[in-house]
Amino acid sequence: MEENSPSTVLEGKITGVSFSLATTQEICLSSISDCPISHASQLSNPFLGLPLEVGKCEACGAAEPGKCEGHFGYIELPVPIYHPSHITELKRILSLICLKCLKFKNKRPQAKNVGVLERAFTSCCEDAAQVTVNEAKTADGACYLELKVPSRSRRDGCWDFLDRYGYHYGDGIARPLLPSEVLIILKKIPDATKKKLAGRGCFFQEGYVMQHLPVPPNCLSTPDVSDGISVMSSDISMTMLKKVLRQVEIIKSSRSGKPNFESLEVEVHDLQAAVAQYLQSRGAKVLYFLHIFLYIIKLIIYL
Ligand SMILES: [Zn+2]
Ligand SMILES: [Zn+2]
Repeated sequence: MEENSPSTVLEGKITGVSFSLATTQEICLSSISDCPISHASQLSNPFLGLPLEVGKCEACGAAEPGKCEGHFGYIELPVPIYHPSHITELKRILSLICLKCLKFKNKRPQAKNVGVLERAFTSCCEDAAQVTVNEAKTADGACYLELKVPSRSRRDGCWDFLDRYGYHYGDGIARPLLPSEVLIILKKIPDATKKKLAGRGCFFQEGYVMQHLPVPPNCLSTPDVSDGISVMSSDISMTMLKKVLRQVEIIKSSRSGKPNFESLEVEVHDLQAAVAQYLQSRGAKVLYFLHIFLYIIKLIIYL
């Protein structure tokens, strides 16, 4: 076919560049192997490229330094977590919609002295409209989102409207919102709401809730040093990445059946804290661009 001929070059003009968080699919597609990394010993896998102590890059076959570009891998997270750097944007989006009917909240939060009747006329779902979304942090640094109702409005079953997002939980004035619930909420948001959110400069990105963590190629890591007795790692981000993998292992091995809300909450917090520390150690490096591996640059091409 003519389209496949090497002499046929499609012409196009770059009309823009957009930055966005890598989606689950993009993280897996950019990985050289279909198998996720599940153990610390695989972090310097020969599939992740040169440099290696011995042997060739098992992804491209290169043996000489400079001939291999490096190849990404990924870790599959056993529970979805919030992207630590984007939780504030996520909170903003969730604050603009009614979490019951997923419509855009037309009215600004109302004054304290507004009556129940007036509220019923100005909001879609009177009970859910009073819910606020707050950002909170655990003692070990895991960030999470929490929902709250004013104490005077609390009544039995006030959180029942969240059942359709996976879990029946909570009877107090506050209730944590799990990343897995947010994932379902975001999938259910109707297009009309998305349009209104876009009008307010809010664009939801799938990567705000992380289900996979990219593993950088070997060329972006400082190799471990051995004195013949013990192995020392001078790369703090590698130590942190090993901690993430340990947490993944703990979660997987401690499970028996589908976890309930409370155990899921603990799992999310522990993994969230480990991933946040890892990303922070990457960001703190002089080579700040390393952090970019979580982002995808898309060229918008007009053909
Ligand atoms: Zn290679
Ligand atoms: Zn509503």
